[in-house]
Amino acid sequence: MQNNIIVLPEELVDKIAAGEVVERPASVVKELVENSIDAGAKNISVEIKNGGVKFIRVTDDGVGMNERNAELAFQRHATSKIKSLDDLFRISSLGFRGEALPSIASVSYLEMLTRTGEDLSGTKIKMEGGNIQEKKPTGAPLGTSLVVRELFYNVPARRKFLKSMLTETRHIIDLLTKFSIAYPEISFKLDSEGRELFAFSAVGSTDDRIADVFGKDQKERMIKIREKEDKIAITGFLGKPEIAPSHRAELYIFVNRRPITSRSLYHAVQSGYGDLLPRGKYPFAVIFIQIDPGSVDVNVHPSKSEVRFANEKVVHDLVYTRIKESLTSPLTIPEIEVKDKASSIPLSWSSRQAEVSMKITESSLGRESPPGLGFIEGMKMEKREAGESDQESFFVAAAFGKTEPGGRGDNSVINRNATTRELSTEGVKINFWQLADTYILSQLKDNLLVLDQHAAHERILYEEALRNLTQKPAASQQVLFPAVTDLTPGEFHLLDEHEELIRRLGFDIKHFGGRTVLVTAVPTGTRNKSGDIFLKEVLSQLEMEEKIEKDKVKALAKSFACHAAIKAGERLNQEEMENLVRKIFTTEEPYSCPHGRPTIIKLTLNELNKKFGRN
Ligand code: ADP
Ligand code: MG
Repeated sequence: MQNNIIVLPEELVDKIAAGEVVERPASVVKELVENSIDAGAKNISVEIKNGGVKFIRVTDDGVGMNERNAELAFQRHATSKIKSLDDLFRISSLGFRGEALPSIASVSYLEMLTRTGEDLSGTKIKMEGGNIQEKKPTGAPLGTSLVVRELFYNVPARRKFLKSMLTETRHIIDLLTKFSIAYPEISFKLDSEGRELFAFSAVGSTDDRIADVFGKDQKERMIKIREKEDKIAITGFLGKPEIAPSHRAELYIFVNRRPITSRSLYHAVQSGYGDLLPRGKYPFAVIFIQIDPGSVDVNVHPSKSEVRFANEKVVHDLVYTRIKESLTSPLTIPEIEVKDKASSIPLSWSSRQAEVSMKITESSLGRESPPGLGFIEGMKMEKREAGESDQESFFVAAAFGKTEPGGRGDNSVINRNATTRELSTEGVKINFWQLADTYILSQLKDNLLVLDQHAAHERILYEEALRNLTQKPAASQQVLFPAVTDLTPGEFHLLDEHEELIRRLGFDIKHFGGRTVLVTAVPTGTRNKSGDIFLKEVLSQLEMEEKIEKDKVKALAKSFACHAAIKAGERLNQEEMENLVRKIFTTEEPYSCPHGRPTIIKLTLNELNKKFGRN
């Protein structure tokens, strides 16, 4: 073949460029909606047919274009948004490449109607495959309306790659959802096949828009990222672990209000959640990053869906820290919501991830339950009232003598009476009850606290184990009558690989050749268990944990915590219960176990009052 270089005809160049900008109908919608936002529109409405392949119309009430600009807009690299190279490095608009309209026009039949505030009549332009077919003055409302028909009619290869109408529609919905979240002050409407898919009217705050987009219930299961003074402002909403999706992460990340995708930020969010997420669950979060436009390059990708930060690591770490801090606040404590329904249903409650139902047994309460105790029906995890967040820390401080920096935890009121095991905050006695040998009930200020004894203990032991594995090895206790035991090949292999770490947990193991070992010491505090059985339990759990948890140390800590912890069904005395409640509040992440299940739920006095008709 001869190596003859030719300059490609303009039409072909256009199509090549279009291929980068316009991948699918959603890309068209994206570019047009961006233009509408840049034009200062207050109302943006999108109509599609057949997933946008057949028909897309985007109508806005922005500034519009005069006749000259309307024509210029279709020239390649024609833009009103940047003028110089300097501007390129300080982009404050969504568009700037001046490529979208010519690209879209070159692969469709396009019609534009536009009018500015200064002009009495508007302009209508019709294009076909990138060429102007008609241009004439015409009456038009203020703003711009673009219709794109038969996308890729002249690029059959591209058309073939389009997915089903449902998939393409889905992409458009996702896209408009993102813009809706980022621009609550704009009203967005989407119609498909003449049917309204959504309509969000303009609202005063992102909070309100989030509630519109995801629903009030969902919104209430999200924690606001605590704001801080920083050069880079990070705000947003974090779905509590209880609403974490099971298939993939649902992340909405915006940089200076531009929706983006980013592996690095995805990672930051994921690790910010850390162990708070149960196995097989992914984060659900909305994150806004506001950063000096000079520190971020948005010109990385033709579709502007990726950005590059001048300092990628700083942004990553800041997002990570902000998420971590916000998630470990007492706000994550799930609350029990009492539904106003008939009150003759058995006591049962459920969290979305730990479907728990139980009945009060007389023996476990140690007294007779009054008849018709079925008052708490269908209790759900619910958001606590903002502003109550200090109560837990106050409770902990007052009840357990952990003094708050604010000085509120005055522990002079503590009455540690060892025989009655009653704590006192401001003269209020605190008792502990055990329910079904599984849950510990207690009081936190005026709220009823319910702890899952296993989950709570697991959390305590997990953090202890992590410290032992990474800092100071745990103390051991000698086994009085150690028994020789044979490990399976699997167990032996795991022991071999982790022996150093396992010793740090407090185990001492002697080898007798082959797979025969003798467990001569176990971690202090090990209850009613022979050393060899305990070791085997930890090893077999480890095998499972390591399939999910890539971090060896964490996997081992989880395995250990799971088998060392008090089980559901174990009877506890007052002292053990008190200990557990006291210790759980000193952990770093008190509100979930290492596997992400809740450890504590709370029923507020308010809810009780409501239920009993006291207003
Ligand atoms: P870019 O957005 O990168 O500038 P486009 O090809 O998307 O490039 O648009 C070219 C120009 O057309 C824009 O810079 C803007 O001046 C004008 N324009 C496009 N859409 C609209 C609109 N909906 N309202 C007002 N002006 C618009
Ligand atoms: Mg544009």
